[in-house]
Amino acid sequence: MIIKSAEFVCSNTQISKLPEPTLPEYAFIGRSNVGKSSLINMITSVKGLAKTSQTPGKTQLINHFIINKNWFLVDLPGYGFARVSKSLAEKWEKFIRQYLSKRENLQCVMVLVDSRLEPQKLDLQFIDSLGEMGLPFVVVFTKSDKQSKGKTATNVQLFKNELLKNWEELPDIFITSSEDKTGRDELISFIDQINQQ
Ligand code: GDP
Repeated sequence: MIIKSAEFVCSNTQISKLPEPTLPEYAFIGRSNVGKSSLINMITSVKGLAKTSQTPGKTQLINHFIINKNWFLVDLPGYGFARVSKSLAEKWEKFIRQYLSKRENLQCVMVLVDSRLEPQKLDLQFIDSLGEMGLPFVVVFTKSDKQSKGKTATNVQLFKNELLKNWEELPDIFITSSEDKTGRDELISFIDQINQQ
């Protein structure tokens, strides 16, 4: 698939106001600062489409973009702000849960994980919650240009080991860098394949 067009559709704070679920949808989510906005801009090749480095704790928005006029790419609010209050974290969880459990056109959740870090509890917990909801997901490691291939491979392996404690099968895994576009073709083909089904 060649990405010919990528346009902003809408930002929402309410699940009831999301666009009609008439097209396949892929949701991108991860800890704040994981590189989600950069990855969305890299995939779509539209600089500034997703706004990078939003201030933590700001209004939590679900942003819809339409790609090639035939699928939605969704930017979900990040989790794990360092100084976020408990009530805001709970609000996030409720909002995201509502979205994830109700969005009937959601094809796959793209869980972003920082490839520089050893497995983080929050990411693993989030993945477990996807399992409980029975939602398909993949793991997308970000910022792979930041360290050696060996270091990335080690962190990916550690992450897989953690997943295998709770999962019988591993999900699809992508290694990406928004800086040098690593993983772009693989992610796009993955989405394309599902869209063709
Ligand atoms: P978000 O909060 O998850 O949307 O993260 P951003 O996309 O705003 O990225 C957070 C920071 O990491 C910014 O300073 C980005 O420039 C940087 N960043 C994101 N992705 C990459 C990457 O693949 N490589 C490098 N070197 N830096 C990245």
